[in-house]
Amino acid sequence: MARCSYHPDVETELTCTECGKPICPKEMVLTPVGYKCPEDARAKRGQYTYVKPKQLVLAILAGLAVGTGGAFIAGAFAGGFFTILIGILWGSLTAEAVRRASGGHRGGTGGAVAAVCLGLGGLLSGALFVAIVAIVAALAQLAVIFNR
Ligand SMILES: [Zn+2]
Ligand SMILES: [Zn+2]
Repeated sequence: MARCSYHPDVETELTCTECGKPICPKEMVLTPVGYKCPEDARAKRGQYTYVKPKQLVLAILAGLAVGTGGAFIAGAFAGGFFTILIGILWGSLTAEAVRRASGGHRGGTGGAVAAVCLGLGGLLSGALFVAIVAIVAALAQLAVIFNR
C-alpha cells in the first residue's frame, strides 16, 4: 500500500486525480472531478473560478465604455416602444463586452460589473428607465450563458 505524501506514517489507497500522488482523508479535497491534493485543489480553483485582477480591470473598462458610455446613445434613441428594444440591445452588448474583456468569465462578477456600469450610465445620462431594462437584459444574458 502507498503512503500519504503528506503523512508518511499513514497508508492509503487514495491518489490525487490531478497529479496522482498518494493522499489520505486528512488533507484530500473533494472537487467536482474527484479527490485532489490541497495544492491541485487550490490551483484549479484559482484558475477557473476567480476573475484575475487584470481581467477585472479590463471588464470594468469595457463596462464603462459600452455600459456607461452607451447610456448617452441609448438615452438619445430611447422613447416609447423603442425604450425596451434599446435597453435590451444595450444591456446585451454590455454583457458581451464585459464577458469578453474578462477572458470569457461568466456569472456574478461580470454581471455585477455590467449592472453597476449600466446603472452609472443611466444616472449620468438621465436615461434611468432604459438603464433598468438594460441591467435586467445584461444579468439575464450573463446568468443564462453561465448556466449552460
Ligand atoms: Zn495533486
Ligand atoms: Zn495525509
